[in-house]
Amino acid sequence: MINKTKIGFSTKCIHVGNDIDKETGAIRRPITMANSYRLPEDSSELNWSDPNQLIYTRTTSANQIYLQEKLASLEGGEDCVVLSSGVSALAGVFFTFLNQDAHIICSNVSYIAVYRLLNEYFPEKYGIETSLVDTSNLDEIKKALRPNTKLIHIETPGNPTTRISDIAEISKIAKSVGALLSVDSTFASPFLQQPLSLGADLVIHSLTKYINGHGDSMGGAVIGKKELIDKIKSQAMVNIGGVISPFNAWLIMRGVVTLNLRMKQHSENGLKVAQFLEEYPSVEFVAYPGLKSHPQHEIAKKQMTMFSGVMSFGLKADVDTHNKFVNSLELIVPAVSIGHDESLIVYTGPNDERNHFYPPEFKNGHLRFSVGLEDAEDIIADLKQAFKKCSL
Ligand SMILES: *Cc1c(COP(=O)(O)O)cnc(C)c1O
Repeated sequence: MINKTKIGFSTKCIHVGNDIDKETGAIRRPITMANSYRLPEDSSELNWSDPNQLIYTRTTSANQIYLQEKLASLEGGEDCVVLSSGVSALAGVFFTFLNQDAHIICSNVSYIAVYRLLNEYFPEKYGIETSLVDTSNLDEIKKALRPNTKLIHIETPGNPTTRISDIAEISKIAKSVGALLSVDSTFASPFLQQPLSLGADLVIHSLTKYINGHGDSMGGAVIGKKELIDKIKSQAMVNIGGVISPFNAWLIMRGVVTLNLRMKQHSENGLKVAQFLEEYPSVEFVAYPGLKSHPQHEIAKKQMTMFSGVMSFGLKADVDTHNKFVNSLELIVPAVSIGHDESLIVYTGPNDERNHFYPPEFKNGHLRFSVGLEDAEDIIADLKQAFKKCSL
């Protein structure tokens, strides 16, 4: 009997969560598009809100359970909850673990919805205290600690700065005050970085990005100890309702099968493209954790196996030229999101509400670039022809 906890990452990507369909013998589990499941003969003792029993699709669904099994296994965690989007997973963690008098420490540059939830909505509505700090600086975190600190939330690599925070060191700080550490590991995926093994309590993913990988569905996940995940399931899934559709869960289950291969290619392409951009005279800066020039390159090397495909860069040019550059690209698609098969680029402009927290080189706006799975030579050729069209 093969021990499913001992198998390698690629084998897990393929086999965990899949099984022979008992009814038809199909070697792929089907999509179960149903709201409700047959009740047991005696339902008088039933816990109608049990998030681990198939009763009603808002309390869990078959495809959701299969995907949770696979993701828990890939992150090396005890359990997983899958929700409708990455933001739903993040909001679920904050809603579940922050009570009225709680204090949270969070990176000052993080996903925009996290910034708004923690900087605006939670403090204004519930009196939560938030400290936004540069979490790549351990001293800033230590200084921000308070007796009521319940959660430290980091995003590493961070969106869009690619800033790296030291998961192992921050987990020690969190433990020293009895706080939980949650890590948004979306940019890395479990193939490049496994925060639970470095001491984190919760790992959060936008499944919309690398884990699904094909730009055709949305989802979010939190992985960690069963005791913590059950709380999120009850509070943020059953009673808030951010449940994933069975179809999206199935699509993500299909996408994740090739995660290992895709992350290798994204990372190889990412490094080649970042090196090309860094050498190019009209490029003002490149922020990519795989470059020696990245301020936390050594920490990235310590906690990641490769450096993924996302970078931010800026041109020695004005706003109009940045826009012209993006519109001159022929393969690379101007669109939000990251981690798809195709390369995606976004020019943010200089008016981001988080601008005062960005490193100085980001202040004139930046290009966030998710390097896709195309041939690296073709991506670089596209950049070159767009530079030429803009006389850069
Ligand atoms: C996209 C993203 C999210 C939000 O995920 P959605 O699936 O869009 O809700 C959260 N964190 C990071 C780092 C992201 O890139």
